[in-house]
Amino acid sequence: MCSIHHQGRKRTTTMNVHILPRQIVRWGCIALVALFCSLIPSDEPNSFIPLSTVDGKTQTDAHWLLSTQAPSVNVVDTPEEILALYPEWVRRLLCESNVFYSQNPLAGKTVRFETPIDINLHGIPQVVDAINHYEALTGGVITFRQVDFDPLVGITVIEGDAENRDGGPGCGHVTCQRDPHSGFSLRVGNTGAFNSLVYVHLGSKRCDFVSEGFRPCSIVEHELAHALGLGNHFPGFTGIEGLSLELLVTITVLYRVPPGTDVAWMCVND
Ligand SMILES: [Zn+2]
Repeated sequence: MCSIHHQGRKRTTTMNVHILPRQIVRWGCIALVALFCSLIPSDEPNSFIPLSTVDGKTQTDAHWLLSTQAPSVNVVDTPEEILALYPEWVRRLLCESNVFYSQNPLAGKTVRFETPIDINLHGIPQVVDAINHYEALTGGVITFRQVDFDPLVGITVIEGDAENRDGGPGCGHVTCQRDPHSGFSLRVGNTGAFNSLVYVHLGSKRCDFVSEGFRPCSIVEHELAHALGLGNHFPGFTGIEGLSLELLVTITVLYRVPPGTDVAWMCVND
């Protein structure tokens, strides 16, 4: 389309009466190129496009997602507002993965980190990208603070010793202690806020966590979601897709309400 436009421009340079239509074609061409380029997925944080694994839901929920990126996004919602704002599938995923997760000691209540979350990411660039994605796509609901030591409460990232469930070399997992065999549970105080350090293990001799996921930071995004409080997997949160639309919306709800919020009432009749 653009090449046709340029040919036409050469042929009609002396016909002023055609200037207006040519300009319309020219700017229409530029607009179409810009639109096309905006639709190409990129790994740059500012143009990140979340994936969805559920057919037919992306379009509708992308509109919902955009509406949540308003400046007022940090306002804490009341339970009634949650019910009004979020569709049932979001509440169901949150309940299954956090509120009634078997390792949640405050069953029926949300448990999570207070923000900003201290993270020692040891300079791993894919982790930098991942936390940028979380901060940008949640509209600042989830924020991190990079530190160069292992904080008492927060996240630290270790490269090279990830394990599968069977103990063999894996792509990524989380634990409560430095030992990659030490297992994982959600450790919270009375308020529902996490009160310990979570270890995120990335990659092993049998798995390059950078090339394994849909994008270079997908495995990191997945493991960070576990560290942030999501236990059980669900469609859109299975391992290699990273920060999918389902994961993004679910974890945004978790971090929009204060830790320790009693939401057992919204988990019934799922
Ligand atoms: Zn997982």
